[in-house]
Order: sequence, then structure tokens, then C-alpha cells
Amino acid sequence: MDEIELIKDADARAYTYLENIEGRPVYPSEDKIIALDGLYEPLSKAGRPAAETLALMDDLGSPATVASNGPNYYGFVIGASLPISAAADRLALAWDQSASSFDGGPSAATLEQQAGEWVLEILDLPRESAVGFGTSATACGLACLSAARSSLLATLGWDFENDGLIGAPEIRVVVPETTHITVKKALRVLGFGLNRIIYAPTDSYGRVDPAQLPPIDDHTIICLQAGEVNTGEFDPFDKIIPLAKKAGAWVHVDGAFGLWARASENSKHLTAGVDGADSWTTDGHKWLNTPYDGAIAICRDKDALARAMNSDAAYSTASATAQKNLTLEFSRRARGIPIWAALRTLGHDGVAKMIDRHRKQARHVANALRDVGYDVLNRVVLNQILVRADTDERTNSILEAAQSSGKVWFGSTIWQGRPAFRISISSFRTKDQHIDRLVQIMTELYR
Ligand SMILES: *Cc1c(COP(=O)(O)O)cnc(C)c1O
Repeated sequence: MDEIELIKDADARAYTYLENIEGRPVYPSEDKIIALDGLYEPLSKAGRPAAETLALMDDLGSPATVASNGPNYYGFVIGASLPISAAADRLALAWDQSASSFDGGPSAATLEQQAGEWVLEILDLPRESAVGFGTSATACGLACLSAARSSLLATLGWDFENDGLIGAPEIRVVVPETTHITVKKALRVLGFGLNRIIYAPTDSYGRVDPAQLPPIDDHTIICLQAGEVNTGEFDPFDKIIPLAKKAGAWVHVDGAFGLWARASENSKHLTAGVDGADSWTTDGHKWLNTPYDGAIAICRDKDALARAMNSDAAYSTASATAQKNLTLEFSRRARGIPIWAALRTLGHDGVAKMIDRHRKQARHVANALRDVGYDVLNRVVLNQILVRADTDERTNSILEAAQSSGKVWFGSTIWQGRPAFRISISSFRTKDQHIDRLVQIMTELYR
């Protein structure tokens, strides 16, 4: 098979996969998982035919996928892949650009430049900000937090880039009690030390309580949250950010999925005041429904991010437009392209409509489950529904039955010390008919 035939074969297999996405078991059955043993084989010395390699991947791999690209997956806010973003990613794969800077791929750099401007517009964040397209909210958060530390230290008269941490003034980090595990991971990797993190107490909704805010000064990075993973709630940015800024602190916002609430006038109020922060992270691959891995680091002070992520050979010339100076990656694919494609195709209204629809569907599910007798534990301000049955045993058994049904999938969590399950609505493919089916399945399981 020549190159073109091989790619056509891959595309044909992809069409077949997508055509059947709705009918697929949402989670693969045991026998398909056992069949994956067929993928363990000795490394071939002479190599094998490319067509056979592709066929093996499809024959054993496709049946053992999680159908998170379908309409019936409610596991996490992970979204599906918008057709245009998946298509743009395919074309970009053919380009195979090393999108470090303009010279490595002028069209890729231009598309990412435009994507960055649109991201700032649709999220209504300071237009002067740097926008880096990285692998994940984890990596983008790490980039922003390193810019935060370096910038606070510079204000305190310490050159972190050249002199490192030894002997530097201590920078303290405050995070919500409910902070995402990956924020802690980023802080740990950056050397902040898990035992030194200061936790801001949260209220019953999982939001930082301004009345119990730990002391904040110009040696402090405070991380806030737009979209708590269990409840979908937002920290009270308008109360906390002005205080923190006045004290000289750096405010970082983890908005991996929740920041997209800003795209719709119907939900923007949830994030009131968030634009006063210094840096933000969000994902394309979650609620915007672009393919993995595409995330966004946004930093109001362009040069702070470019200094922290600088990979120019000459230290002093870090250009805040080259993506290699805004993300962890040096050689990189142009992760902003699928985001550009999504925003261009949906437009501002299209994104807003998707957000509105998911929020409406979430409220509907919450009301319907409450009517059946479930205990809905959150206010459902966004797209997350946190649910429990009458006893922990029943919560667990209903969860297990739902997960093994192959018809829907959602995950478990521990909320205030007891098991619960969490239903997240984030796929562009999830229509009201799928929601009705989810409610029907949940109703049967309850009885
Ligand atoms: C998913 C998530 C992250 C991490 O994002 P990745 O892109 O998976 O690294 C961080 N914070 C929140 C609130 C999340 O939901």
C-alpha cells in the first residue's frame, strides 16, 4: 500500500468508527478488553506491512475504546471532537509543521495567532494577554504558575531565571480546599511542596469562602477555580481578586472547563470579576469539544510568560509571539489549529448555544432525577450533576449497573465523605433525546 492508499484506509476506518459511534457500547465489554492481549507481541525485527498494522489497531483497538466521542458518555467534562476540529487536525497532521515559531510554519503560526485573539475575545479576557497553546490544562497551569513565581520574585528584587530558588524569598501558594489534583501536581513539580500549600476553606457549594481567606500579600500566589469538578461552582472572583490584587498577590485561575461559561451571556455572570486575575488556564479538549491534546495558557503580562517559558537561544530576546516561548513544548504541533477551526465554524453564538444547551440539559436531568427520588447534591449552575441514591449501597449498585449497561457511562466521586456519582454533560453530540434516555435508564435503575 502506498502512502495515499494507507491514509485513505485509515480515513475509511475512521468513518466507520464514527458512523457507529452512537450504537457503540459506551464502555467496552470484558471480552473486548481481554482481546487487547493480542496487541502484546514481540518487537518485529524486519517490520510488518503497514496495512496490517493499521488493521490490527482497528480490529482490536476500536472495539475496546470508550465511546467518549459519542453522545452517551457523561463521565467527566471531556467533550467529544467537533467534526471541523477533527478534520483540521487531520490536515495539520499532513502538514507536519514544527510550530515552534513563525519560521517553522508560517501558516500554523498565523492560525494560532488568530486563534489566540479569538480566545481572548470569546472569553472576554484582557486583550493584551499572551496565549499559549499547550498539551493540557495541567501543563498550561504549570507554565502560568512558573510565570507567577518568577514575576513576584522579580518585584521582590530576585532574578529567579538566573539565580533559581536557593536563597530566594519564599513565595506562598493559596489554593481552594477543592482545588483540582493537577494544580497540586503543577505546584509539586515546580517545587512548592505539598505540605507548604495553604488551603482556603470552602463553603458548602465548594467555593472559596472570602470570610475565611488566609492572609495574602505580595509574596503570595492565589489559585482560584472557575468550575469545580464536582459541583461546577465558581469561586467568588469579584470579592477575592480585588483584595488579592491590592495586596500585591498574583491571581491564577484554573478554568479547565468552567471558563467557557463566559462565552454565553446567560452564564457569564457566574464568572463575574474573573477578568481581574493575572493568568488563566482552560482546555480546548474539554468543553470546546476539540480533540486531545489542546489547552490554553493565558497570561495578562505577556513578557512574564515569555520569560518563564523562554526557549530562545539568546536569553534576552524571548518573543511573546513564538509558541515555543509560551508553553513547555519546543518542538510542537500547532495545537491552536483545532481551536481556531472550532471558533471559526461555530462562531461566538455557536459556542454560546452549546454551553446554554448543556446547562439546560443538566438542570433537566437534576429535576427529573429528583422527581424519581434521587438526592441531587449540588445547585446545578453549570453542566455537572452530583447525585446520590437513598443509601450508599444503592448509590454504588446503581453506578455499577449504569456503567456495565454499555448504554451510558458516568463516574463516581466522594462528596462530603460519602459516595456519589457525577454526571457531566459536555458533548456536542448529546441531544435532548439522549438526555431523555439517560433519565429513563436512571429511573429504571432506581426502581
Ligand atoms: C481536567 C481539569 C484539569 C486538568 O486539565 P487537563 O487538560 O486534563 O490537564 C484542571 N482543572 C480542572 C478543574 C479540570 O477539570
